[in-house]
Amino acid sequence: MRVKAGVLEKPFVFGIKEVEIPEPGPNEVLIKTKAVGICGSDVHYYVEGRIGSYIVNEPLILGHETSGVVARVGSNVTHLKEGDRVALEPGVPCGCTDFVKRGLYNLCPSIKFFATPPVHGTFAEYFIHDANFAFKLPENLTFEEGAMCEPLSVGIHATRQGNVGLGSRVMITGAGPIGLVNLLTSKAAGAGIIAVIETHKNRATMARECGATHIIETFDSAQIQKQALDITDGAGFDVVIECSGAASAAQTAVKVLKPGGTLVFVGLFSQAEVPMDLNAITQKELTYKGVFRYRNTYPTAIDLMASGRINVKPLITKRFPWEKVKDAMDCAHKEASSQIKVMTEW
Ligand SMILES: [Zn+2]
Repeated sequence: MRVKAGVLEKPFVFGIKEVEIPEPGPNEVLIKTKAVGICGSDVHYYVEGRIGSYIVNEPLILGHETSGVVARVGSNVTHLKEGDRVALEPGVPCGCTDFVKRGLYNLCPSIKFFATPPVHGTFAEYFIHDANFAFKLPENLTFEEGAMCEPLSVGIHATRQGNVGLGSRVMITGAGPIGLVNLLTSKAAGAGIIAVIETHKNRATMARECGATHIIETFDSAQIQKQALDITDGAGFDVVIECSGAASAAQTAVKVLKPGGTLVFVGLFSQAEVPMDLNAITQKELTYKGVFRYRNTYPTAIDLMASGRINVKPLITKRFPWEKVKDAMDCAHKEASSQIKVMTEW
């Protein structure tokens, strides 16, 4: 079937084209798209045509934060029917690999992830997806909230990686979209103190509205350490969730953690190697946890939003009809410091 889709040809050459999509296989569903959020990674491909070793060599449909309506089901699919409203988890491991057996399917090197070359994304009227990665949305959730399951999943996974729980004292570096979802999930997990480092006014205000107990408005390491001691009565934080990708934030994290604390790194650094104080990490017995996308988070994201324990709506700061997907991308690119989530809608 022929559908219209937002296709990236090369940096800044992005527009709506007609493309051919296949019929759903026995274990797949055909989805009519309803909402797609623009992610930092989409903007990265749009501006540079690549992220690290992933390079856009062939025209690529962008978009991976998606909700829609089931339009057709494959012959083996029993848990979904036509008309169901669903959120789509973008990463599908291929087959029962060792990683899948161990419950670490997000780490499977053969995973197929929307809008990661050569796998197409979801800026399209319709697309095909593995039915096991389509999750029914309850009545009280909007399609936008369905699309927000994706960034929220990153927060859920990081919160789990850091063992954030009742009374945890957490520092989050950066209040961009990923810092903010981490703030929401840390709060939902019961964190006692949540301090957010953010110097940008709009983002600091947003962090306050999302439940930050403290805002540290400086990037200066000595200043951050001083404020961290004040905030925690000299004890230090239990967990630092690094969402900025700034080397200095990673280095400061080691200094503000209490012995036995946990470093959770979500942001990717632009420099290949970041010098870290390994002696301090060893002597303080810190735990280092990486976060690569997420696993087993979609049902949790849906429950947290449906029960009202997490509200992602304030994070959606701009909406575009999907025909204006190029304008939406330009907006996400040019207004990166003032927009949190730009959403496109069908
Ligand atoms: Zn995303």
